[in-house]
Amino acid sequence: MKVLVIGNGGREHALAWKLLQSPQIEQVICVPGNGGTATLERCQNLSLAVDDFAGISQYALENGVSLVVVGPEVPLAMGITDYLQSQGLMVFGPVKAGAQIEASKAWAKALMQEAGIPTAKAAVFTEATAAKSYVNSQGIPIVVKADGLAAGKGVIVATTIAQAETAIDSIFQGEFGSAGNFVVVEECLIGQEVSVLALTDGLTIRPLLPAQDHKRIGEGDTGENTGGMGAYAPAPIATPELMARVQTTVLEPAIACLRARGIDYRGILYAGLMIAPDGDVKVLEFNCRFGDPETQVILPLLETPLVELILACVEQRLGQMPPIAWKPGAAATVVAASGGYPGKYAKGEVITGIKEAESSGVTVFQAGTQLNQQQLITDGGRVLNVTGIGASFPQAIAQAYSGIKLIQFPGMYYRKDIGHRVLK
Ligand code: ATP
Repeated sequence: MKVLVIGNGGREHALAWKLLQSPQIEQVICVPGNGGTATLERCQNLSLAVDDFAGISQYALENGVSLVVVGPEVPLAMGITDYLQSQGLMVFGPVKAGAQIEASKAWAKALMQEAGIPTAKAAVFTEATAAKSYVNSQGIPIVVKADGLAAGKGVIVATTIAQAETAIDSIFQGEFGSAGNFVVVEECLIGQEVSVLALTDGLTIRPLLPAQDHKRIGEGDTGENTGGMGAYAPAPIATPELMARVQTTVLEPAIACLRARGIDYRGILYAGLMIAPDGDVKVLEFNCRFGDPETQVILPLLETPLVELILACVEQRLGQMPPIAWKPGAAATVVAASGGYPGKYAKGEVITGIKEAESSGVTVFQAGTQLNQQQLITDGGRVLNVTGIGASFPQAIAQAYSGIKLIQFPGMYYRKDIGHRVLK
């Protein structure tokens, strides 16, 4: 069976790597892929844009591709699934109507309210004056969000009224383009964030292992927000009791509400949760795809073949599958980023030491890399994810750090405190 994976991040390298562990997978083609997917055995890159739906469809139909797995949210929100399905292809990832759960925060909020899913109190605005007077009535801290996709930059946690008002103005003045047609102003929640990614076939929904990300660039969770600087799983804060509550108060109501709206949602539903100090759970956001870097710690622990789970979702028979099996132990990933990220950074720096790191036992999932005449060079902000697994968190984290120390490129930066919460 040939599978096409859409995307070029660490998440897509991990998806291709995991899919290829099943003998029935003959080949994985990554569109456009990165330096890591270019060098995986039985894997190749195809240089097409992720929004070139016609080109992707033509390639898949002419080359006997049986399944398309979509990594990023942007093509999902643009309707890649609807298009490829209309051409007769099998796709893992929700249709455009379902992807709104990530692509519009106002839409997601309305769905949560309708389904009775616990979430922060919020109001939606179409112009600045009303948004500002709401901010003034609520006080600080308060969260201001651009409605649409803004690559993680559209959320401002304001600690002063002035900050919130500036955020409202810049969103309405078009800083995030059409993502800023609406502004969501939301109560600021306190606690620990956990990512619960769940597989769904539109009827049944089953969670994967809970994971925790590290969004800030600096140690001690300080500095600017990033795409994620490291992660670990299974997150101990998400106890079996908490996961059971998430299943009945978040995941099942969400999928039932989507179904009631006539949306046949098959793919990943990712709930970004805030766990309050008293254990109260609220949804911060929903995403319509695998998380990055969470995927790089969840998939190495997955025992059930990924392709079987994906096919069960696409063919709407997830409810007939045995429980998802997991390897014992823990996984941790540390992201190596280009110096200057999430601001300006250089590209084209030569990367060395990956083979040595892999020989030490870690798995290196590549993200912003490119193969240039057989030489691996940097090509993005987040460059590599170095994943360690072990019987315990201290072992997994120690393995990831001893692996990353064997890798070099000019300007390489990584946080030294990934997993600080589980090491305490
Ligand atoms: P973008 O829309 O820019 O792509 P995103 O989808 O990642 O960003 P969210 O996940 O909603 O946006 O928010 C990003 C981060 O902002 C969250 O991970 C969390 O740290 C913080 N955040 C969002 N909402 C709240 C809230 N109500 N209270 C406290 N923090 C919040």
